[in-house]
This record gives sequence, C-alpha cells and structure tokens, in this order.
Amino acid sequence: MRDCLFCKIATGKVHAKIIYEDENVMAFEDINPQAPVHTLVIPKKHISTTLDIKEDDSALIGSLFRIAGQVAREKGIAERGFRLVSNTNPEAGQTVYHIHLHLLGGRHMHWPPG
Ligand code: AMP
Ligand code: ZN
Repeated sequence: MRDCLFCKIATGKVHAKIIYEDENVMAFEDINPQAPVHTLVIPKKHISTTLDIKEDDSALIGSLFRIAGQVAREKGIAERGFRLVSNTNPEAGQTVYHIHLHLLGGRHMHWPPG
C-alpha cells in the first residue's frame, strides 16, 4: 500500500535494521525500543489490523509467530521468556496500520500491561 510505512520497509523504500526476511515475512528492530529486545515481525503483505485477517492469511499469521520464536531463540531470550504483542486500533495504541507482532524481552515483563 502506497503510504504505509511498513510496506515501504518491506519493499526496501525505507531503511530498517532487518534481522530476518523471507518471501512473506520480515523482522526488523523497533526504532524506539521498549525493552533490551524489541523486534517487529510483519507480513510483507499489507493487512491493516488484526480485524482484517482473512482465512487465506492463516498460514501467514502462523509464520509471524513461528519467526518471532526463531528470533527469540537467536537473541537468547527464548528460555527466559518474552512477550508477543499486537495492538489493534487506537485505544490499544496501534500507530502503524500494517499488522505486526512486537517481540519484547530481555527484562522482566509486568502484568497487566499498561
Ligand atoms: P504500534 O504502536 O503497535 O502500531 O507499533 C508501531 C511500532 O513501530 C512502534 O513501536 C514504533 O516505535 C515502531 N516504528 C515506527 N516507525 C518505525 C521505523 N521507521 N522503523 C522501525 N520501527 C518503527
Ligand atoms: Zn502496509
């Protein structure tokens, strides 16, 4: 989608620190990290919010979780624990309308989140 920041990252038009990429999925470092590990995992396909996920996207969404786990292992936080967050719409704090998983870890995570 033309004016979507994460589509621009997915197509290389905007720079990001990419740590994983395949045909369908990309993972890159969050520009404003909230934890020692803060990586974003996105589908290359534009999907605006979790409410826009279609049945055909099921495998793709599964890949986001699988890749997030792979990145957590590579960063050495898998056994300690990590959090996967996907914010939907304004009250949850979604600011980029291209779905993404936040992979957060490397420190103790509080519950409930703010
Ligand atoms: P959310 O607020 O859940 O939609 O998450 C959007 C995330 O994207 C925030 O954590 C931002 O810090 C992050 N972000 C915004 N612009 C960039 C960028 N150019 N590169 C990497 N991360 C970004
Ligand atoms: Zn997009």
